[in-house]
Amino acid sequence: MTAKESRVEAFDHLDRTAGSARKRLFIGLITGASILICGLLVLLWVIPYIGLAQIHPTAPWVLGLALAVLVGIVGWASLGLVLNILLGRSLPLTRRLRGLTIKIFLPLMVLLGKILSISKERVRSSFIKVNNELVLTEAGRYTPEQILLLMPHCLQNSRCDMRLTYDINNCKRCGKCPIKELLEISERYGVHLAIATGGTIARRIVVQTRPRLIIAVACERDLSSGIQDTYPLPVFGVMNLRPHGPCLDTGVPMHDLEQALQRFLIDPPAPTVLPMATNPAPSR
Ligand code: SF4
Repeated sequence: MTAKESRVEAFDHLDRTAGSARKRLFIGLITGASILICGLLVLLWVIPYIGLAQIHPTAPWVLGLALAVLVGIVGWASLGLVLNILLGRSLPLTRRLRGLTIKIFLPLMVLLGKILSISKERVRSSFIKVNNELVLTEAGRYTPEQILLLMPHCLQNSRCDMRLTYDINNCKRCGKCPIKELLEISERYGVHLAIATGGTIARRIVVQTRPRLIIAVACERDLSSGIQDTYPLPVFGVMNLRPHGPCLDTGVPMHDLEQALQRFLIDPPAPTVLPMATNPAPSR
């Protein structure tokens, strides 16, 4: 095994083992959500059972068979997801699990979480964790032009007047916020870097740069909605740092970001950010 392959494997392993509580929450909610769906399907069969028998004696069984197939698909998909999370590998016929998780399971999990008084933030954070694992399982490696680093506007120092949304190169690189370091990383790796102030601008940036993979930094809410909006485009989510609370002078875990670049680039240069490196404290 080459040094690069072992770095990639170490990153995959680290990312999979981190946040096991979030994974447990996800597994619990996805199991609950699939039991809920299967229960509803069974009810769909039981309720019209008597009425259908009057149309034709075999009609209830035809409906029952169709619903049993659906129950099987839901059960297989959720079992596939759980095993994928635990083993880090896809089961046969479950390659499109990310789409299923995003479109069906996440809304149901948020609903179930609400019933069980689990906060949306916790459910979203577990969803991001699992999405990242599915992206790690499915995504390959890309050239620098195929990767977009998408950043939230709240990283910019709140006292800085530079307009960065349309051109991040307007930054004067004074070092009072993480934008300077991000520009240096994007130049070193040759990847696109952009700042989005909301979903509409994020979509415009994606259309303009046409990436094959997005590495996005944001809070739980923006990351989970971004992952949903851009599906089937894979988004690897990195949670931002919030030393001053949400949406104000936020930070980037630079080491995690660089590790993700090392993982997804075909031939990355040697990493530069040390594991314990932190962002400069914003001067306010
Ligand atoms: S590094 Fe300095 S100039 Fe650039 S965005 Fe941050 S505060 Fe503004």
